[in-house]
Order: sequence, then structure tokens, then C-alpha cells
Amino acid sequence: MTPLARILTDRIAAAGPMTVAETMAECLLHPEHGYYATRDPFGQGGDFTTAPEISQMFGELIGLALAQVWLDQGAPSPVALVELGPGRGTLMADILRATRAVPGFHAAVQVHLVEASATLRRVQAETVAPTRPDWHDTAETLPDLPSLIVANEFFDALPIRQFQRAGGAWRERMVGVRDGALTFGLSDPAPVGVLAHRLADTEDGDLVEICPAAGPIAETLARRVVRGGALLVIDYGGWHSRGDTLQAIKNHAPVPPLTDPGDADLTAHVDFEPLAAVARTVPGLQASPLVPQGVFLERLGITPRAQALAARLTGAALESHIAAHRRLTHPDEMGSLFKCLALLPQAAAPFPGLTQ
Ligand code: SAH
Repeated sequence: MTPLARILTDRIAAAGPMTVAETMAECLLHPEHGYYATRDPFGQGGDFTTAPEISQMFGELIGLALAQVWLDQGAPSPVALVELGPGRGTLMADILRATRAVPGFHAAVQVHLVEASATLRRVQAETVAPTRPDWHDTAETLPDLPSLIVANEFFDALPIRQFQRAGGAWRERMVGVRDGALTFGLSDPAPVGVLAHRLADTEDGDLVEICPAAGPIAETLARRVVRGGALLVIDYGGWHSRGDTLQAIKNHAPVPPLTDPGDADLTAHVDFEPLAAVARTVPGLQASPLVPQGVFLERLGITPRAQALAARLTGAALESHIAAHRRLTHPDEMGSLFKCLALLPQAAAPFPGLTQ
């Protein structure tokens, strides 16, 4: 049993079952035993790999797209360059390197990172050096400036709640203890206000998920972006959640979500609908269409960039570069599962690559 499994088991014995969201929050961010609090989980030796860790092309293209947004909007200065959940800091380092040649951009930007893990903050500091970013625990403390904000695989780490339909009501999926082990169960049925509209498109027994933190965080970011800039969200998921998408990954392979609390990464599909809906609650904001990552990167020019880099490579390095291009863009890999959405001021030019 992991140390965190013992803590959760004792807590449930004393206080009763926990929601999936409470469990996920403890597994990922418990200050002593949480997954992100205790390690650097990325790459070959870690548990999973993300797009910026697969190839420098990802961050380069996103950096140039953000610089284009900045130029399209008249080069506001100062402007906050913000990343949520920067992991190892690779994406931000690639963004900064790729934009070095954009006149005036580096003089205008202040770099801000929203990161909960002290361990990963140390890794980020090394990766983005000599740039010295400001770190934030939450988006709330970001400056009130025009902001270029990127979040890659951040929203999928935010805790979700799960509900199973029972007639006109919902039973919440809860984590309890049976025979000394953590196990899933269901609460008694009760009406759930925020799911009233889902009675129209679900049937008895269907499971839906909500991410209570996602909308408020998106709104906090949108209030910066409406002054100028853009929010770019890239994540796996879709439109309108349906079904159980809670997933635990350890050593690059799926494991049951409750077997190794604190020792496996836990994520869930991102429902982009409530993120796009922020464009309706914050006046003056527009949401882009939802575009698959493969289409987005092709539109930004990943193929010519891949060819230019390939010209300098041979042997195993060339093969791994070709595999990385395929992994980021092919529909059977990350190309279709991952989606991209931008929020930006109503009057602004569309975000590069995020049009119909
Ligand atoms: N964007 C990176 C890493 C994604 S992993 C990449 O693409 O490689 C998720 C990141 O979000 C980690 O850095 C993790 O520590 C951070 N994180 C998770 N939940 C968070 C929260 N509630 N607040 C701030 N950071 C969080």
C-alpha cells in the first residue's frame, strides 16, 4: 500500500467516502505524497511523454503563433507570457527560443508560470534560464495585463466529479474502502443542478463528468485576455463529456486508478464546451472553433519545419525525428485525440491555425 493509500483509507474510515475530485486532488497534489509534488514524471524514464517533450517543433510553432497574435494586435507592451502547468519548462523554453528573432517581442514580455509543484518549479527554473519567470500557485494572482497564455495538458490534470444517471437524478461515483482497499461506489441518487441540461442527451446508467475548477480558471484567464492577447488550450478530450475517462498511467502504461495513489498520473478527458462557453460570460471575447492538434500543427507549418530539421539529421536521430512528427500529427497518434481551442478579444484577428 502506498503511504497516500493509507492516509486516504484512514480518512474515509473516519469521515466517509470521498468524491473522485477530492481523491484526484490528493493523488496529484498532496504536499508530501502527491504525484506531482514528489517527482519529475516526464520522458523515457518517467511515466508519460507530452508534446513539447516529443519534439522542439511543437513549442517553436506555438511560440511563432503567439508572436503572430501579438503582432496582429499591434504589439502591446508590456504583455504577460503565461504558461499553466509547465511541467519541465520545455514548451516555454522552445517558445522563448523560437521568438528571439521577433523584433521587440522579448523586450515586451514578462514570463509568468502557474505551477503547484515545488519540485517542478525547480526544473522549470533551470530549463528557462536565463529568463527569470514569476511563479504563481493559481491563475488568480497573474497580472492584469494583455496576456499570451498557453496551457498544454494542464486542464486534464484538474480534478473531475463523475455522475451516473438514475432516472431524473444522478448518483455520484465515490471512493470508499472495502476489505481494507480503496474502491469505487455510488452515492444515493439526488438531483444535480449543473447537470439539468444533460437529462436531454443521456439515458439511465450513462456516466457524465464535470470539472468544477475548469470554468472558473478559464474565466480568470479570459479577464486578462479580453484586454489583449489570447488563451490557447491544448489537451486531449472533446465536446460534451460522456463516459468514464478517468485514467491512471504509470511507466507509460495504464493502471487501475485506485491501486497506486500518489504513484501514478491521473487525468481525465477535457470537455472543451465549458471553456468555450466563457466567451459568452465574459463580454468582448470570442472562442475559436475546436481544431484537432494534427490539423493545427499542419496549418502552422510543421511539415516544412520538419523537413528543414531533417536535412541536418541522419541515422537514428533522423528516424526518431520522423517518428516525432508522426506522433504529434497523425490521427492514430496525438493528431485527432488532442484538440486546440483559443479564446481571444472579439475584435482580434483569428488565432493562427484555429479557423474553420
Ligand atoms: N504542460 C506540460 C506538463 C503537463 S503535466 C507539458 O506539456 O509537458 C501537468 C502540469 O500541471 C504539471 O506541471 C503539474 O505540476 C501542473 N499542475 C497540475 N495541477 C495543477 C494545479 N491545480 N495548479 C497548478 N499546476 C498544476
